[in-house]
Amino acid sequence: MIDAPVLREKARALGFAACGVARCRPMAEQEPRLRRWIDSGRHAGMEYMNRNRCVRLDPARLAEGCRSVVVTLTAYPPVAPIKGRPHPVAAYAQQPDYHGAIKPRLYQLLDALRENHPEARGRACVDSAPILEKAWAVEAGLGWIGRNRLLINPDSGSYHWIGILLTDLEFSAYDTSYAKDGCGNCRRCLDACPTAALSAEDGLDARRCISYHTLSNRRLIPNEVVEKSEGRLIGCDACQVVCPHNARRLAEAPAADPAFDLTSEEWLTLDETGFFDRFGHTPLAEKGLEKIRQTVSQQLEIFQKE
Ligand code: SF4
Ligand code: SF4
Repeated sequence: MIDAPVLREKARALGFAACGVARCRPMAEQEPRLRRWIDSGRHAGMEYMNRNRCVRLDPARLAEGCRSVVVTLTAYPPVAPIKGRPHPVAAYAQQPDYHGAIKPRLYQLLDALRENHPEARGRACVDSAPILEKAWAVEAGLGWIGRNRLLINPDSGSYHWIGILLTDLEFSAYDTSYAKDGCGNCRRCLDACPTAALSAEDGLDARRCISYHTLSNRRLIPNEVVEKSEGRLIGCDACQVVCPHNARRLAEAPAADPAFDLTSEEWLTLDETGFFDRFGHTPLAEKGLEKIRQTVSQQLEIFQKE
């Protein structure tokens, strides 16, 4: 049994902005929402959401003997719009690749917790494992899921990555699920979404979402999405930038890094070596130069027709 304050102290020492812990359980109450979302096709091409549905609802299927779900937040700096237009590269993609940075720290946290429990087991999950990260963050008391479908922490807003450690360790106390709806009557993200991908009732329609298409969709982006993407190439922060819970961090944000603000011509003439020299350490590398060029060419084609 580990003292919950010890967990938080060790997480803080490792640089996590926030940490909470929930008792592991199947999240059966999430099943109808997940099923509705998938059955209506709003998951777009994310077929893995359907394939892994059962595992996704029960972390014990991911990590045998799991008793606790430790949830961490790692903050990254927002990026303000530049010269009155959205930045073509979303804030998170301007940072070093987060998978490589967060996973080792989660295992360091496990090692630290093992001090008096050397037999303890754990599995770190950052983005790629089938787990309901945002729902677990709520369960661990770290915030609520906003109308933009992002986890919003009352202190630090939504510019963070969620990292999860599934472990067979038990804690002296578990956090209380975050019960408050911090969105209230606000609808700013719904109104700001360039493609109307968000709805108060049905959440996100990934088929319309610029983030989904520029980050996860390996196929050609539909022209109607490119038309409304306002020059975005990787990700979209429109529903974060307007959120009042991000206002303080946006006001403190550093100036946009010009290294990510290339002209269409610069993107089209950049070679693979130059691309990896400049962006090899960021999530752009995983996306690949070819996909970025394809989107730039689509934007040019549409713009030239107008
Ligand atoms: S990421 Fe962009 S396109 Fe997707 S829901 Fe948010 S504002 Fe809309
Ligand atoms: S913009 Fe408003 S409605 Fe949207 S997530 Fe933020 S607080 Fe909630």
